[in-house]
Amino acid sequence: MTIYNLGSINADHFYAVPHLPGPGETLAAMSLSTGLGGKGANQSVAAAKAGADVVHVGAVGPDGAWALDRLAQYGVGTSHIAQIDIATGHANICIDPAGENQIILYTGANRALPEVQLAILDSAGPGDWLMLQNETNLQVQAAERARAKGAKVAYSAAPFDVEAVTAVLRHTDLLLLNAVEARQLAHALGVAVSDLPVPQVVVTKGADGAEWHDLQTGETITIPAHSVAPVDTTGAGDTFAGYLVAGLSQGMEPESALRFASAAAALKVTRAGTADAIPLRTEVDAFLS
Ligand code: ATP
Repeated sequence: MTIYNLGSINADHFYAVPHLPGPGETLAAMSLSTGLGGKGANQSVAAAKAGADVVHVGAVGPDGAWALDRLAQYGVGTSHIAQIDIATGHANICIDPAGENQIILYTGANRALPEVQLAILDSAGPGDWLMLQNETNLQVQAAERARAKGAKVAYSAAPFDVEAVTAVLRHTDLLLLNAVEARQLAHALGVAVSDLPVPQVVVTKGADGAEWHDLQTGETITIPAHSVAPVDTTGAGDTFAGYLVAGLSQGMEPESALRFASAAAALKVTRAGTADAIPLRTEVDAFLS
């Protein structure tokens, strides 16, 4: 079974600065480190590390070859990522000695994917999944195309945008929200999470674990988080999403897939970083045994 992921690919540039820059100020950074980021790329890496066959669909610019190499090293299929004439999405993140940050995000190529790139979704079939988030264009078109072939759609409604969520919701089989997004969506639509117009909803609640709501049967599965000493929670949600959908695509029942995802996300929060810090399946299996 294949997971297609229409998702963002970013270069995250971390600048260590003595203080956050003010208006008109030129400030020398003390160091720079660059990593692969973007919710889409993180989710693809997580699903690939979980052992799934992952085809990433997206776009980078002329400066994006390194990102394709990195994704490929993690086992993500990159042959349906377009290289277009708009710079690769990136985030410039200034971090001061107290850990406070200031971020400039440029979505770049991520929101300029030509629709012709979605043709690969016509190869999808029953048992396959399409993953979506809110950092690209073409989510509705992709969902319609994949579902027409019998694939299921897992949608992370992040970063939260009520217009985007409302449009994609009716094409979604499995909606993934964190606790803040769940509150924002319930408030925006004026309904409880248990009354959202989707078949399945997963709400992650950080150190308080996660809930799976089957809105067709009314059943709820609650999974506590593992008790770990957190080092860096960045990417916990993406690790959870990638592992969850990988587990489902490999035939796991929802409860097993939730346990698999929860273990992977717990291991992630014990490590600094994103893509590199997402654990391998062997590590997750060992953690669970
Ligand atoms: P992020 O934006 O930081 O990637 P998120 O807000 O999308 O994360 P969370 O709900 O914070 O998602 O976390 C996702 C999952 O990761 C949780 O359901 C849990 O399984 C795991 N997790 C997150 N924080 C912790 C923690 N402190 N201890 C153990 N597990 C955690």
